[in-house]
Amino acid sequence: MRATILVHRIPIDTPVQTSFGIMHDRPSLMLRLEDDDGAIGFGEIWCNWPSVGAEHRARLMEALILPLVAESGLADNPAELWVWLSARLRILAIQSGEPGPIAQCLAGLECALQDLAARRAGLPLARFLSSEASASVAVYASGINPTGAPETAERAIAAGYRACKVKVGFGRDRDRENLLGARALIGPDVQMMADANQAWTSEEAVSFAETADEVGLSWLEEPLAHDVADEDWRQVADAMQTPLAAGENFASARDFDELPAARGLGVVQPDLGRWGGVAQLVAVGRSARAHCMLFCPHWLGGGVGLLTSCHVKAALDDEDGFVEVDFNDNPMRSELAAEIFATLRDGRVSLPDKPGIGIDDAAIDAFRAHLTVAREITF
Ligand SMILES: [Mg+2]
Repeated sequence: MRATILVHRIPIDTPVQTSFGIMHDRPSLMLRLEDDDGAIGFGEIWCNWPSVGAEHRARLMEALILPLVAESGLADNPAELWVWLSARLRILAIQSGEPGPIAQCLAGLECALQDLAARRAGLPLARFLSSEASASVAVYASGINPTGAPETAERAIAAGYRACKVKVGFGRDRDRENLLGARALIGPDVQMMADANQAWTSEEAVSFAETADEVGLSWLEEPLAHDVADEDWRQVADAMQTPLAAGENFASARDFDELPAARGLGVVQPDLGRWGGVAQLVAVGRSARAHCMLFCPHWLGGGVGLLTSCHVKAALDDEDGFVEVDFNDNPMRSELAAEIFATLRDGRVSLPDKPGIGIDDAAIDAFRAHLTVAREITF
């Protein structure tokens, strides 16, 4: 197997603002695999924050993780390989204090191997995962900055989305003004959500209840920090009609097994480039559905991870919930996923009948000018 590790940094005109930081360019870390028969597979590794972290994760992939794939003998079984590598690197992850970056690299590797396996089988990833896969998935426009939020929400709905998510956590009055302003522009019939990105204390979150319910939010995402006690989350959940959402910062099977119920969540949002990859996303999605929670895969990176997320959601043939689509400027997302987003109508996109996630080398080569790392290794 030949692996190529690619880091791109795509310049953007408008920075991405969250309550915890600003992103001035769009980093992307991708793994391209090619087997002896010429079949290829792509996986994307989450690397948004801090934005210098993409190159570090690329080094972890090259020096630490890929050499272990050969040792495992499990390259043909991505899900088992992920379990094996997670166990093999468990102590190192603790000792290094880097469980996050290591889990993110393992997740992206698993995605690349799943894409490769689907292409070998000649099937779109969704149908490779399930013969019952849906041909289309529901999506929502996400990452709407506080500056000009109502107008951005309006543009998202005009583009074909039927749901959008606005960033909050920028002060009570500004948040309220943005949400009411957006609701006034997009009308009562489309769904709107808010993401606080862990900004609030439980008192601040509880005091948001009135606005959340008045605006008619479909969910409030991460009102509290991930490391806050379950009781505090439940207190916020009990204070409002609006369901709570979280999951992008969950980082173990135990988190997904225990926290949704313990915290009173109504929406579960795993990120397949941060933890677990494809097989774990499928498992979390099935479990969320079995517990009557919405399954809405989180994604705020480039096109490879977005398409992989869409295929998993389609594989579950899940009528409820939708895939997150960053509405901020990022050519690495919009151009790689251009084919499916050209089909956006009534909040749904169709998946083409192409093997794997449907991306080819030419699409990625088009970004060559923005490469900061290109490392090739054989194992
Ligand atoms: Mg979020």
